[in-house]
Amino acid sequence: MEILKRQKSWKLLGLEALLRRLPDHDLSEFNFYKDMYVAQKKGYDGEVSVDRMWMELNIPTPYVLFHSFEAINHAGYTHQIDTILLTPHFIWLIEIKNIGGRLDIDESKHQLIRTNQEGLIESFRNPVNQIKRHAQFISRKLRDLKIDLPTEVSIIIVSEYTIIGSIPKGISIFHASGLQTELDKLINKHRERGITPNQLDTFKMELMSIHQRDEWKSKVNPSKLRKGVLCRNCDYKSIMVFEYGSFKCVRCGIKSKDAYLEALSDYRYLISEWITNRELREFLGVESRYSINRLLKELKLEYQGTYRDRKYRIPESFE
Ligand SMILES: [Zn+2]
Repeated sequence: MEILKRQKSWKLLGLEALLRRLPDHDLSEFNFYKDMYVAQKKGYDGEVSVDRMWMELNIPTPYVLFHSFEAINHAGYTHQIDTILLTPHFIWLIEIKNIGGRLDIDESKHQLIRTNQEGLIESFRNPVNQIKRHAQFISRKLRDLKIDLPTEVSIIIVSEYTIIGSIPKGISIFHASGLQTELDKLINKHRERGITPNQLDTFKMELMSIHQRDEWKSKVNPSKLRKGVLCRNCDYKSIMVFEYGSFKCVRCGIKSKDAYLEALSDYRYLISEWITNRELREFLGVESRYSINRLLKELKLEYQGTYRDRKYRIPESFE
């Protein structure tokens, strides 16, 4: 059973919004965020492609699957675990890497080295250290609840064209196509022992209760960002104006009643989760307090405060 679906990280959502709204006249700043976005998106696409494989797997045990799990540890640091498979026999933490070329892990220097086809060498964050850190966190949670369950860790390489070079002994790192084989090995290794359905449920609930998305904010000053409802049809290059209850693009003329929802989302990921009527009027470029009130009412948003200084909470999504 898949209990937590794959979600874009706050950072990826924030970067998507930022690239829509950051003017590109400061090219070095724009490209800095663009590169950051490309790396995040590549990682996300890799995760999604591995997720599809789980649907075809034969998993001969009860299980709970978590994707994009995030939590904060006792020291205030975050854990972002790409996939967790919880079974009565073991818990499997998986880090997914979408990196091409040849990968070598230098254990003594704790670095991941990628050599691309042109021979260019780059260093990346060591996934072995990352996943071991997550394993310590999860093992500690299990100990706290007095649940005796082995923790296994693996690193999955998305592309079959990536060459896995020299890696430390005892580290499970394999191409996505090997997922079923590696799963079968773990099931065989741990089949003798298991926790009770009750304990499995307890730990499932524990993980869900500590799951918390890490908030990300760019360092860009919000006053630099383009305001208004941007037209998706014009690749967000033009503005939509409010006319007779809907938004109309000044360039292509397309009309939409709910184009402002994307603008609200951008506001959430770039500026704040909370917004007042006045702030929304300024951001959307709508003068009428009354019209904005009506839009806000239709959305039935959670709010705080009395009528005059009421602030509304923008949800993660409007679906
Ligand atoms: Zn347009």
